[in-house]
Amino acid sequence: MTNIADWLIPCLRQVQVLKQTNSLSHALLITGADGVGQEELAHEMVKDLMCEKNQAAACGTCHSCQLMSADTHPDFRVLDGEASTIKVDQVRLLVRQISQKPQVGQNKVVLITHAQAMNINAANAVLKALEEPADRTFFVLTSSQSSSLMPTIRSRCLLVNVPTPSMNEVKSWLMQQPDGKALGALFWLTTQPFRLLAIQAQGKTQLYAALPDQLAAMLRGTTSVSAVLKGLDSSNIEDYCNGLAAILHQCICHSTGTAIDEALQTIYDTLIARLGIQTLMLRYQSLQKLKSDLQKTNLNPIMQLTHELNQW
Ligand SMILES: [Zn+2]
Repeated sequence: MTNIADWLIPCLRQVQVLKQTNSLSHALLITGADGVGQEELAHEMVKDLMCEKNQAAACGTCHSCQLMSADTHPDFRVLDGEASTIKVDQVRLLVRQISQKPQVGQNKVVLITHAQAMNINAANAVLKALEEPADRTFFVLTSSQSSSLMPTIRSRCLLVNVPTPSMNEVKSWLMQQPDGKALGALFWLTTQPFRLLAIQAQGKTQLYAALPDQLAAMLRGTTSVSAVLKGLDSSNIEDYCNGLAAILHQCICHSTGTAIDEALQTIYDTLIARLGIQTLMLRYQSLQKLKSDLQKTNLNPIMQLTHELNQW
């Protein structure tokens, strides 16, 4: 079997058993918290569904499996709503393509990831397809905000709920990934395993990893604001905002008794003594506002964040 994260395995098995016994619903909705691996699980399930062999897990060798691993299977279609809204024309085109007889194996699969990004017309088109299911056609949807999907879509799907892994599960899984140790040091930023993996894939591990030490040095007066922001430009200002906001968020939580990541302890001690909790909250709000304004205006990133950090 493919090497997938431990906490995804029970969900995968659940669907494999249903597939093997021919009792799988034609629509699946995979839900769970952000970054726990719904999309990775969905891709594994799709491979199993497309395999021509009548067995639980994909065989990896049949014609369908080979086409899936080459990403060229004509009976598999995917729509991803991560970056932009899913529109009705995209759904209609896909439903039309999938209404033909399978060209290779027996099953056809439509995968819609981040399905909450469907606009109302797109959602209605999917609902119509679910109401009149074509033979041996499966719809697999993923969403971290399944409550924002139309209830009529949800009620037609088999719900597969991905559990949120414990910190220990995430830690031991990270150790098997490239750069896992460096990513494990970013728990102050997020404990979402697949968000950490995405940071690594985008080559941003170092940007985040350096932030606490640089900030601590700036607060001690041994480095300058411009040294902290060295490397900042319009392509990564959102990462700097995310990192700084996460640090402030941890400090605010710590002031109410929550444990703080070791890497942030001296930052907390200095900031709380220098600014106090009310001002820390104001700085946090100001960073969030800066982040949301980034999309609307052409702000100079260096000027904006320099102005912000000068107030810390
Ligand atoms: Zn196969």
